[in-house]
Amino acid sequence: MGKNDILFERAQKTIPGGVNSPVRAFRQVGGTPRFVAKAKGPYFWDAEGTRYIDLIMSWGPMIAGHANPEVVEAVKRAAETSFSYGAPTEGEIELAERICQLVPSIEQVRMVSSGTEATMSALRLARGYTGRDLIIKFEGCYHGHADSLLVKAGSGLLTFADSTQNAPSSGGVPQDLVKHTLVLPYNDVQALKGVFIKQGDQVAAVIIEPFAGNMNLIKPSTEFLSTLRQLTSQHGSVLIYDEVMTGFRVALGGAQSLQGITPDLTCLGKVMGGGMPMAAFGGKKEIMSKLAPLGNVYQAGTLSGNPVAVAAGLKTLEIISREGFFDCLTGQTEKLMTGFKLAADEAGVPFEVDSVGGMFGFYFANQVPTSFEAVTKTDIEAFKKFFHLMLDQGVYLAPSAYEAGFTSITHDNAVLEEIITAAKTAFKKL
Ligand code: PMP
Repeated sequence: MGKNDILFERAQKTIPGGVNSPVRAFRQVGGTPRFVAKAKGPYFWDAEGTRYIDLIMSWGPMIAGHANPEVVEAVKRAAETSFSYGAPTEGEIELAERICQLVPSIEQVRMVSSGTEATMSALRLARGYTGRDLIIKFEGCYHGHADSLLVKAGSGLLTFADSTQNAPSSGGVPQDLVKHTLVLPYNDVQALKGVFIKQGDQVAAVIIEPFAGNMNLIKPSTEFLSTLRQLTSQHGSVLIYDEVMTGFRVALGGAQSLQGITPDLTCLGKVMGGGMPMAAFGGKKEIMSKLAPLGNVYQAGTLSGNPVAVAAGLKTLEIISREGFFDCLTGQTEKLMTGFKLAADEAGVPFEVDSVGGMFGFYFANQVPTSFEAVTKTDIEAFKKFFHLMLDQGVYLAPSAYEAGFTSITHDNAVLEEIITAAKTAFKKL
């Protein structure tokens, strides 16, 4: 038994399933999760000393590469003056100012410690602001694990869904809560119009992943987005862009800057903390001023705006703001996907790819899917084989066909070449 197997067996005794977040357990692809010992740049090393090229990058945050020296230095400096105060700091103002400057739809922002907290709080705020209960989400979108949002959700929930169940939802979520969540198909303009005609005046908020990354990568159509913005404005519903994954990842100004949409509220996480527990939600001042202590919508957190996380976030945002950062990241990610596609074509494997900024999707299918339903019809068995063939060659992909992949600025040409060479071998063996 290798060290990873030994650790996994040991972990399962005291941690449910041996992991602290379900998808890490490799349940869809089978096999033993790699226990990470250390990481640097685009690589990590497991407990057995094996090196892997990382194409998850902590599910998005490590855009500047693992253990980026500048971020490490900023964190060290912050840590020397204590880890947490439970009182405000200047760094939080700097981070808030930087976020408002980079994402102009955000006039005010509140910091929290996880994406789940950000979306959960944004929803409560939207309900408090509108005085309505109903929310709309889209099939296959994952917005963290708050009760109201665990209805037909993507990511781990999709990966572990019981195939006999029509709606992959969590146990322990009261039906009374679920009835306030309407789930519509992603990219379905008619369904959206239909609901707003019937119940538009009851809708507190629509929450969306503006590029869905929790059912593989799925892009929205321009018509779908413009209809969404128009209907929510017309009916006084709050449009929440969940940019926990896409914020500072697909472009410096997030998905909204690429799509030309101005949401009412935006949720952020992942990159904004540079790998530290840090997230935020923000938007129109008129809505944000309903939050305690100004308004009656309560939201709080002992570790919110944590100074060490703020230091990591500020430095990461500084790095990604440098000239050419996103051009380079986007180009490298496209190069990687083109390499995958060519390798698959050479081997005669039906395969498609897509990407935006430093986020990518690949699909064992004849065309790029545009909905949750289409993703579930891709060849999951082929994905599982491909995943292990790549892992055996030292390339670490997301262990589920229902997740997007992530690159960093340290994924240079030599790294891409190594990945593509591995992919050529893998496709041939499929
Ligand atoms: N929203 C989106 C779009 C996400 O991708 C995620 C996490 N993958 C979350 C919310 C929840 O964030 P967290 O895991 O930090 O709670």
